[in-house]
Amino acid sequence: MKVMKFGGVSLGTSEGINKVKNIIGDEAQPVIIVVSALYGVTEQLLQAADYAVSANKKYELIFDTLQNQHYKIIEETIDSQDVKLNLYEEIQLLFEDLKNILRGVYLIGDLSQKSSDKIVSYGEKFSSLILSKIIPNAQLYDSTEFIKTTKQFNKHIPDIPLSNKLIKEHLQNTRNVAIVPGFIATSRDEDDITNLGRGGSDYTASIIAAALDASVLEIWTDVDGFMTADPKIIQSAYVIEELSYIEAIELSNFGAKVIYPPTIFPVYHKNIPIRVRNSFNPSSKGTLI
Ligand code: ASP
Repeated sequence: MKVMKFGGVSLGTSEGINKVKNIIGDEAQPVIIVVSALYGVTEQLLQAADYAVSANKKYELIFDTLQNQHYKIIEETIDSQDVKLNLYEEIQLLFEDLKNILRGVYLIGDLSQKSSDKIVSYGEKFSSLILSKIIPNAQLYDSTEFIKTTKQFNKHIPDIPLSNKLIKEHLQNTRNVAIVPGFIATSRDEDDITNLGRGGSDYTASIIAAALDASVLEIWTDVDGFMTADPKIIQSAYVIEELSYIEAIELSNFGAKVIYPPTIFPVYHKNIPIRVRNSFNPSSKGTLI
């Protein structure tokens, strides 16, 4: 079993999504696909929440932009009218909820951590729902049912033993393509929506890969892999073919924004390789960790 995670940039446009569809289509099934929110959506959701709590009606503009962004992707990627209608019905319900929550924040002028976590969770809810209709043989799973968090010093951290148990229960018998929203989770005790932190979809994928003893964790992004330096600054920078887990952690801690650093730990403990790949250049081998 393979776990593949696709980031927001890979899912930013219909061309990008079609590339992702082809990459998944080339895989032997079963396969688990973890997705981020579409490009820029998490940022926009946080901005909308900020405007709403400051009684600034600009949150409505952001809401409309987000809705249009998702509807445009649906129009451009799905041919079947039936599938499209059904998807619109489902996604409209999610947008309705989001609108009501933002309006509540606007009216009350209060944005708790709980409300903010709920608002930001819609990015991955939208993207996973859309992708589940685009990818043949796909089944959508709700990661809030099996990625559980607990609170440590005011921060949500994953409850690994509980999540492992629940991941196995939900995903072990996947037959075809499981689509899983990354990043989002629920708190173990209150069952509130939480998340694994900005960039946390990589972490979701790694936790799932470790729980299911996957053969490999593939992180699909928009660069060819880890590089020797920032190519925007050093022109002669090149892709590193292989790294140890420790070297990958060091590079990440020194600012290589290729993967979310905590991602390395769950798979490291199981000795599961990570392969960083570029969805816009799938013929490149990427970096193997
Ligand atoms: N959508 C979330 C973020 O932008 C999580 C992720 O993309 O990994 O931080």
